[in-house]
Amino acid sequence: MGKNYRSELVGVFGCPIDENPTGVMEEAGFAAKGLDFRYITIKVNEGDLGAAMQGLRAMNMRGINLTIPHKVEVLKYLDELSEAAEIIGAVNVVVNNAGKLWGENTDGKGFLTSLKDAGVSPQGKTVMILGAGGAARAISVECALAGAEKIIIVNRNTQRGQALVDLLKEKTPAAVEYIPWQGAIVVPQGTHILVNATSVGLFPNVDQKPEIDYDTITADTVVTDVIFNDPNSLFLQAAAARGAQTINGLGMLVNQGAVNFTLWTGEEAPLEIMTEALKREFGL
Ligand code: NDP
Repeated sequence: MGKNYRSELVGVFGCPIDENPTGVMEEAGFAAKGLDFRYITIKVNEGDLGAAMQGLRAMNMRGINLTIPHKVEVLKYLDELSEAAEIIGAVNVVVNNAGKLWGENTDGKGFLTSLKDAGVSPQGKTVMILGAGGAARAISVECALAGAEKIIIVNRNTQRGQALVDLLKEKTPAAVEYIPWQGAIVVPQGTHILVNATSVGLFPNVDQKPEIDYDTITADTVVTDVIFNDPNSLFLQAAAARGAQTINGLGMLVNQGAVNFTLWTGEEAPLEIMTEALKREFGL
């Protein structure tokens, strides 16, 4: 048998994409495991996804991540979807199984793992989610599928908020409530897990936090943020000041990357090495 000089190719399609740090974490994982995989950060403009997906097939790439603006559009180029991806209606990772393209959404799974790592489970709990965009959709569906008793959606844009509420009611067993975002939102008593799934607080806007009544957060609330590029966001600082347990967005990012790693390579992801690589990248 001759030597194999061919690397397995994975990566990400998105636009803008230049500042996406995922490759740092995945490449660190491949190196640690001695896997001949390459993660390539690829700019694919809106409207060019069809050609890019054809390219993926032509080059026998093992898989791809999708980010803005391709997570929904990619569905029409796939052969199969996971249950969660089908409900969420968006895909952030594709696996190429000998020409058959399978799509999954691992954002919400990464979120659930970061909860679990902190000793928290949504089962039987009330979960309040700020936002109704892609991250909120993935998180709310996974929490509902993991047995959350009630999901409360809070969103500024009523149409988007209501669409997520309708989807959760139709496709999951959880009880669902919608609160339109007007003024400082009160966190209802009995809310176990509060999630910031908006983009408020995202770097460089680290001086902003979602408009809620922070005095309604108690020591019994677990407060989590999807923002990862300021792991000590103002939102989490305000929650910690009320005695709440807090979980930042780094765990979600690393854990979804770890699930993707396993889907592509079939190997367990070296979580610590991937986390360290990201932290170094963020100067933490
Ligand atoms: P979307 O653009 O799909 O959704 C953005 C959401 O934020 C919408 O619900 C929007 O509300 C809300 N929002 C934006 N600005 C405000 C504001 N000033 N006040 C209240 N609500 C606001 O983005 P995504 O869901 O894809 O991403 C959201 C965040 O999650 C990003 O910061 C992203 O980096 C992060 N993320 C983190 C991941 C991780 O692994 N840690 C994974 C995926 C995403 P409206 O509908 O009213 O406009």
